[in-house]
Amino acid sequence: MTEPIKKAVARRRTFAIIAHPDAGKTTLTEKLLLFGGAIQLAGEVKAKKDRMNTRSDWMKIERERGISVVTSVMTFEYGDNVFNLLDTPGHEDFADDTYRTLSAVDSAVMVIDAAKGIEPRTLKLFEVCRMRDIPIVTFVNKMDREARDTFEILDEIEHKLALDTAPITWPIGSGKSFAGTYHLAENAVRHGDAEVERQKVNGPDSNRVAGLLPENDREAFIEELELAREACRPFDHKAFLEGHLTPVFFGSALRNFGVRDLIEALGAWAPPPRDQEADTRMVHATEDKMTSFVFKIQANMDPNHRDRIAFVRVCSGTLERGMKAKLVRTGKQMSLSAPQFFFARSRVTADEAYAGDVVGIPNHGTLRIGDTLTEGEDVIFRGVPNFAPEILRRVRLGDAMKAKKLKEALQQMAEEGVVQLFQPEDGSPAIVGVVGALQLDVLKERLAAEYSLPVDFEMSRFSVCRWIAADDRAEVQRFIDAHRGDIARDLDNDPVFLAQHSFSLNYEAERWKAIRFTDVKDYQ
Ligand code: GDP
Repeated sequence: MTEPIKKAVARRRTFAIIAHPDAGKTTLTEKLLLFGGAIQLAGEVKAKKDRMNTRSDWMKIERERGISVVTSVMTFEYGDNVFNLLDTPGHEDFADDTYRTLSAVDSAVMVIDAAKGIEPRTLKLFEVCRMRDIPIVTFVNKMDREARDTFEILDEIEHKLALDTAPITWPIGSGKSFAGTYHLAENAVRHGDAEVERQKVNGPDSNRVAGLLPENDREAFIEELELAREACRPFDHKAFLEGHLTPVFFGSALRNFGVRDLIEALGAWAPPPRDQEADTRMVHATEDKMTSFVFKIQANMDPNHRDRIAFVRVCSGTLERGMKAKLVRTGKQMSLSAPQFFFARSRVTADEAYAGDVVGIPNHGTLRIGDTLTEGEDVIFRGVPNFAPEILRRVRLGDAMKAKKLKEALQQMAEEGVVQLFQPEDGSPAIVGVVGALQLDVLKERLAAEYSLPVDFEMSRFSVCRWIAADDRAEVQRFIDAHRGDIARDLDNDPVFLAQHSFSLNYEAERWKAIRFTDVKDYQ
């Protein structure tokens, strides 16, 4: 391993923010970028969203419904660290996209609304992080509004998520009188994020703290802090990295409180790019040779050019502009002639990326979700998940002459991960599958805008879809032969069993014990 790679890897923190819609993810993102010096003005993230919206028609949906469909990456620096923040769509109908993005991060920030606590979507996303052992830093937002009691919030995290908490800071006041954060271990306060350095104090009874609180609240604050010191767990780095404990910070993204505390914690404690398990061996982040995998495809950003950007997470080595890489799935070489780097400050000049970085690679359909790129080695990263769709539909086309065009368009949409596509073995028309209904709206909108294909969706007689596998391939074949009319192939030609309802699935599972029916498939 070379020194520059080692250094570059050690500095990097690649993370996502998980939150229930409205908890403040967008606002916090803006502030992280602002304090990270990546942008001059907060509000830039929203501005960027607007610009992107005008670029392509299909994002009308996003505009109309006020949701963020696009996953993007933002890079900023703070102190000695380089942060890659991978944005995830907030709406649950795009859960697929979010899960795939979480396969490309090393840690996550969980944003909680101080008045609402753990909400359903937070819980769901947290569970995905737990499945992947992603360490979580908690940010309790909106402390400037009516908030729950601090102990109550910690208690809720512990109970609802079965996760130990260690408050690192404590809010000084709340609601209208929220005035800053008190660092428990350091005995230091920060009155808003304009203060770059925390101010050391003698304790919660110091004049500096008293000056931040209304007279009537001072006594209570001192007592609360004493109780916190006695009752709360101290921070344990190992337990955090293993996903058993979350350090908790309090703040207000809107009013610039607690954001610096959070960035500093990510720099100090969040893990650098992890070693990545591949099919044949463990790939270390600091190895010389480049390896990377595709976790997201974004197509037709500009409908006039059928371009596709593959978002690639680098796992080891250096990805350089102009280098040749091997696409392991096909064994073919491809030239990375125009990789897009997302370093906010040095967008134009940066031309190499290290483990943890995300690079956009324009291509015309060569790259698929889950693909591995290397400098020649045949390793494959697994673990970008594909979830069994919960809604299955047939696509009805007004103009039968355009059937071939529709087939191509659906194939592209499926490769991009907008929908899943299943070709029935009996030759009947293709079935599209989605996890959330909004994905169908996106598909319809995009087929119309980008391919001039007006379509409708018809109910399919199937409602359940499972991948099938068995240790003995012949057994799979026997199952397929016995169920011709209910078998389809996914994009990789892997067989799925389509059932009319879960009852018939259970019935078959009982009869065919050697067959595994799975609702998650890792891309390969
Ligand atoms: P997202 O849906 O999680 O991205 O949430 P947003 O960042 O868009 O915030 C949702 C709403 O809460 C917006 O109106 C924000 O201005 C507001 N908001 C976000 N953070 C805070 C905060 O710290 N305090 C207060 N009072 N409002 C906030």
